[in-house]
Amino acid sequence: MLCRSWALPSVIKGLCTHCGLCVEVCPNHGIHLDDDGPVFDERELCDACGSCEDVCPTGAIVTVFEIARPDCNDTSTGGQDER
Ligand code: SF4
Ligand code: SF4
Repeated sequence: MLCRSWALPSVIKGLCTHCGLCVEVCPNHGIHLDDDGPVFDERELCDACGSCEDVCPTGAIVTVFEIARPDCNDTSTGGQDER
């Protein structure tokens, strides 16, 4: 059963210092920086690893990976299947 569902990370733009670490750490190359801070390029590129949140020195990235699939009854994997 396919149960993967999560939101992209959120950004507190006022905290971003444009250090670029989140861009470097994303294993899927799914982040770039613009004038306001990080931009997550494509939903499909994020696999919810949390690395961008972990590496950010200012706490500007918050991963809120909401699992909300009403058709998913399997909670053994935290709502995520194996790809
Ligand atoms: S790691 Fe944090 S401070 Fe650095 S560019 Fe990314 S969001 Fe901004
Ligand atoms: S959670 Fe992981 S895959 Fe998603 S944007 Fe951040 S570093 Fe990239």
